[in-house]
Amino acid sequence: MSQKEKTLDTLCVHAGWDSDPCTGSVNPPVYFTSTYKQEAPGKHKGFEYSRTGNPTRKALEEAVATLEGGRFGYAFASGMAAIDAVMRLFAKPLRVVSIADLYGGTFRLFEKVYRPLGYDFWYANDNDELIALIRGHKPDIVWIESPTNPLLTVVDIEGIVGVAKEASPEILVVVDNTFATPYLQRPITIGADIVVHSATKYLAGHSDVVLGAVVTNREDLAEQIGFIQNAAGAVPSPMDSFLTVRGIRTLHLRMDRHCQNAKAIADFLSYHPAIEKVYFPGLPSHEGHTIAAKQMKDFGGMVTFRLKKDTLDAAQIFFSRLEIFQLAESLGGVESLANHPAIMTHASFPKEERIKRGITDGLIRLSVGIEDTQDLIADISQALEPLA
Ligand SMILES: *Cc1c(COP(=O)(O)O)cnc(C)c1O
Repeated sequence: MSQKEKTLDTLCVHAGWDSDPCTGSVNPPVYFTSTYKQEAPGKHKGFEYSRTGNPTRKALEEAVATLEGGRFGYAFASGMAAIDAVMRLFAKPLRVVSIADLYGGTFRLFEKVYRPLGYDFWYANDNDELIALIRGHKPDIVWIESPTNPLLTVVDIEGIVGVAKEASPEILVVVDNTFATPYLQRPITIGADIVVHSATKYLAGHSDVVLGAVVTNREDLAEQIGFIQNAAGAVPSPMDSFLTVRGIRTLHLRMDRHCQNAKAIADFLSYHPAIEKVYFPGLPSHEGHTIAAKQMKDFGGMVTFRLKKDTLDAAQIFFSRLEIFQLAESLGGVESLANHPAIMTHASFPKEERIKRGITDGLIRLSVGIEDTQDLIADISQALEPLA
């Protein structure tokens, strides 16, 4: 049976590693080595120096590529390093059309690092605007996330691929698949050219590593990304590579519970008197629900909501009362986290920009963990009590 025919559940457990031919080890050993002995100059077993290649990292790279349905995978020291590698493609200032509701760190990299170098960026507020910007500018890259952070807007990936390729076959469609993971959606299989990941989140899944990945099916792009990975050198350590493979082994089980818990919490919040609005693609009232239902296996583990009392004080009351949810940045780990986008993850947006995008002081983002559903709901319920 080829890797293609296996289901994602089986691939999560096995992708990237068969037993060690020397020892039979069922897990990839953590190769703590910077260099490799050569028999004669240039005669080696495929590894020369660990910035260029390391067997533990290779196991991870193959695992992520296989899960995404791509042929080539590259791991980086962080999600931002992975995104940065893509921005260096073609060794020239790129023209990029993206979405307004973009991960804050990506927005900062685009605006503060790459725009001063002559790159151009345009941001769309919805699918129609995105289509108009693609047709109008014929950019080098269309950069999308779906669902987005923190408002969980859904982009029609297959539709956008169609629009981009029709505008010009040269346009690359890049999808940051951090929020959905390949368990819920596989953009490369529906025409995207590149997938990037912050594996820090769901792929590694235990809030114990910072790591990124790039996957593609195109040999020409793979060659360039591999070159940049080695030349610029933002590679992850063997230990972090191991932890990420270890995390991927349970991705399917964790995602099922994340999705189940998030759905229950979104339902609970949507009837709560203290809540103004719930953002969750699984709710039929969500703008992107139909597309999400079509392109995703389930709706993910992130839930965002706005308090009726749309103030920092009200948000602070909620945070201070939480017992299971912890106030922290990041997402995608087994433990439930609550986050205040305006002050925490999205502080890199200027205030006017933030408010315009709906990231107000009473907006709260939950990364719903894999604890007991009723315990999580009870925690939120008691934390909201003074606000109802
Ligand atoms: C966290 C995150 C990143 C950045 O990844 P790091 O591993 O923190 O560098 C990029 N995109 C999305 C959607 C993220 O959530």
